[in-house]
Amino acid sequence: MDSAARLPELDQIPQDKSQTKDVKRKAISSPYFHRLQRKHFLMFDVLPVLGVILAGIMAFYIPVSGVDIGLFIAFWALTGIGVSVGYHRYFTHRSFKARPAVAVTLTILGSMAGQGALLSWVAMHRRHHELSDQPGDPHSPNLQGPGFKGLIKGLVHSHFTWMKEHDYPNVAYYAPDLIRDPLIAKTARHYYTWVILGLVAPAILGGLLSQSLWGVVSGFLWGGAVRMFVVGHIIWSINSLLHRFGTRPYQSRDHSRNGGLFGLFTFGESWHNNHHAFPESPSFGLQWAAFDPGYWFIRGLSLVGLTWDLRVPTVQRRTSRKKRNVQTQQ
Ligand SMILES: [Zn+2]
Ligand SMILES: [Zn+2]
Repeated sequence: MDSAARLPELDQIPQDKSQTKDVKRKAISSPYFHRLQRKHFLMFDVLPVLGVILAGIMAFYIPVSGVDIGLFIAFWALTGIGVSVGYHRYFTHRSFKARPAVAVTLTILGSMAGQGALLSWVAMHRRHHELSDQPGDPHSPNLQGPGFKGLIKGLVHSHFTWMKEHDYPNVAYYAPDLIRDPLIAKTARHYYTWVILGLVAPAILGGLLSQSLWGVVSGFLWGGAVRMFVVGHIIWSINSLLHRFGTRPYQSRDHSRNGGLFGLFTFGESWHNNHHAFPESPSFGLQWAAFDPGYWFIRGLSLVGLTWDLRVPTVQRRTSRKKRNVQTQQ
């Protein structure tokens, strides 16, 4: 999937008519945006690495507690669902419908992951699907030259360094539906508040549950920094590894691959070839036996009426896509 649409402070919405006229400009490159991108990269992509190192060192002196592990798992699941189900499947691809309370909750949980503000993330990911593995794709691993050197450069770029500085997709062009949704636009605008909430909440819970000051620190480290690091790398691995390695059962215009075994840890995102072939589907696994926790979550909400209109492709459609693939390869 994607990714981490870096996004700076705020989603950039055209403020005047001259900018609105420029709506056809699909991406903008400017020192102003690059400054914001570097700042975001440093805060939410580089600093969590220090948190991981610190947590590792501290673990030698004070054993990691059940509370720490519980907070890590809880915030990993909440923010992962926020990105996969909210940012990706609901807002970017509109693959199901949901009650406003669900949409707002997913906006907040996705923001807490620290991977960029909603409108920018959506714009970035729609651009990824539009130009996948072609010039203009913000994070393709396949455009950095031939051979082994090109492979390594491509993987590093698509996994991590692209976020440091990149063209900013025009949200007026790529995400007009979200701009027109006042409730979501307003919620998404408080991006930094939600990211900080994702760091402060596990710290407070850690202190309360362990009844100690150390619990505050270790809750922040495990439920905040380490969790942010792990969720980030899970999502970035889809951008990097799964546009290079894995199986390719369906025809698609790009180099997307499936790494189904990792479905449980990636919330189902690792069915990436399936997703590029059927981006409108809320299910990435496409089959009931596939590990796709994101889809299980959407399905669960549908049973109590909170989501509906789940547009999973029919067996016939999937089969015909596979057949065409076989014919193409022959
Ligand atoms: Zn997608
Ligand atoms: Zn992709």
